[in-house]
Amino acid sequence: MSDAAPDLYDGPNLDKEDIVLRVDELRKTFGGLVATDDASFAVERGSVTGLIGPNGAGKSTLFNLISGFYEPDAGHVSVNGVDVTGAPPHEVADEGLIRTFQTPRKLEGMTVREAMLVGPQRQPGESFVKLFTSPGEVEAAETRNIEDAQRMLEQFEIDHLATQPATDLSGGQLKLVELARAMLAEPELLMLDEPVAGVNPTLANKLRDHIARLNEDGVTLCIIEHDMEFIMNLADPIIVLDQGSVLVEGTPEAVRSDDRVIDAYLGGPGE
Ligand code: ADP
Ligand code: MG
Repeated sequence: MSDAAPDLYDGPNLDKEDIVLRVDELRKTFGGLVATDDASFAVERGSVTGLIGPNGAGKSTLFNLISGFYEPDAGHVSVNGVDVTGAPPHEVADEGLIRTFQTPRKLEGMTVREAMLVGPQRQPGESFVKLFTSPGEVEAAETRNIEDAQRMLEQFEIDHLATQPATDLSGGQLKLVELARAMLAEPELLMLDEPVAGVNPTLANKLRDHIARLNEDGVTLCIIEHDMEFIMNLADPIIVLDQGSVLVEGTPEAVRSDDRVIDAYLGGPGE
């Protein structure tokens, strides 16, 4: 039986050559609900790894656990071999892992440029004491941040939006701002939660091109996405999550034709 199905899932592929993110038997419950159920997987450096699965499969929860926004009940997360389990988001970011949110944070009362400047990047001005002890350093850092933000807006072709209120942007433009802002932190591993949800096809194509460019420049990506066509064209491997656990991992072609994946998508909760 065992060699009859060559694609039979035999556990997470944790033997990749050069692993940037490793998740081991991660578990998270909310009350009686098991959102993450002993999930294990690894992300290889240089890859674009797709994370898919039906609604409620636990994809966003997994991102929250990995990036330090939720604390796991059990299991481990390591970035570049450093154990960051339970560490707060800024410490995980310091190891080179930056994530975006499925629902972009509210940017009321801010221009796009201002929104770019509230991010996870290093900002000496945030240390209140430094305003008095080394005001020059704070000022220089602020100028540098503004220049970096401008350069990043240009790179993502949204510099014409710099002085617009962030609340005036379309869903797609907001996603571009999120991406540009995340890149200011110079991540090694960038994790995107549904980067093209609610984005029109033209902007989705632009986002695709930008993501591919970042990957060519050496950024490793892990992307949750509901749009199958988008993720299948961009990511390899694809990891399928179902009911909080990894169901299958494989190439887009293998995953697309896997009966277990089809069942998971058709089955829904309660299956
Ligand atoms: P996905 O992103 O795959 O659609 P989620 O990770 O958002 O799924 O949710 C997985 C399950 O965990 C869902 O049943 C959801 O209702 C539940 N869940 C997620 N976050 C919380 C939370 N903060 N409190 C309670 N339940 C949550
Ligand atoms: Mg989600």
